Amino acid sequence: MDEIILKIEDINLGYANGKNYKKVLEDISFDIKKGEIVSIIGPSGCGKSTLLGAIGGINNSYEGSILFKGQKITGPSSNRGYIFQEAALFDWLTVEENIGYGLKLKKTPKNEIKKFTDEYIREIDLKGYESYYPSKLSGGMKQRVSLARSLIMHPEILLMDEPFSALDYQTRIEMQGLTLRLWEHYKPSIIFVTHDIEEAILLSDKVIVMSKNPGKIIEVLDIKFKRPRKIDLISDAEFVDIKKKLLKMLIS
Ligand code: ADP
Ligand code: MG
Repeated sequence: MDEIILKIEDINLGYANGKNYKKVLEDISFDIKKGEIVSIIGPSGCGKSTLLGAIGGINNSYEGSILFKGQKITGPSSNRGYIFQEAALFDWLTVEENIGYGLKLKKTPKNEIKKFTDEYIREIDLKGYESYYPSKLSGGMKQRVSLARSLIMHPEILLMDEPFSALDYQTRIEMQGLTLRLWEHYKPSIIFVTHDIEEAILLSDKVIVMSKNPGKIIEVLDIKFKRPRKIDLISDAEFVDIKKKLLKMLIS
């Protein structure tokens, strides 16, 4: 559990804006260990998605270094799963085909694809929906398919950018529980961007707090509740204390 899988050092990044230059990320450094879940919280516009994009290999124009298992990240890879706020499913593929898509690309034998997709469909509680197209699914169901489609590839790190923020409260809580359950399977590292403080504490081993203009890390908080965690942790006195502390940082 102590192996460092991702090492981020002194990231500085900005965008040209006409004649001006806007600095978005300043001196960002942190490590992610194998199997660790780390949340990033911070005000809208502080550069969370930009940072995740750099880690995902989508944005390579930064100063500093991002090393994934000692190697510079140069582009997207199935080793690093990416989940966005809006489930990016293929509309023309069924639930089952969406989930098995990555395995098919890797030329996995058909019977194995079937075995693994069945397993994940059961896991995300979508049995009976195998042949549905995304347009017939609710937001929560789509996001469950997204999670399964990513995790079936066993990425070593999963990058999640406000994945549940478009969902209603009840569905969001279900998705948090599902994420924790699926994580237990083979314990991928996860970077989880959210503006929901409760969600960040519940899921994470570490919460990174950012401030904006430019986006900087102002605090890294270890969250030590033992796993497996259940949703009722949110009413625990220590949990509420951490929540207050984080809230204060975000509004100060
Ligand atoms: P967050 O995800 O924390 O809300 P973003 O990473 O999306 O923040 O954006 C951080 C800042 O960078 C914002 O001020 C945004 O307007 C700016 N920004 C993001 N992407 C671009 C881009 N492609 N070109 C110029 N500015 C951008
Ligand atoms: Mg964002």
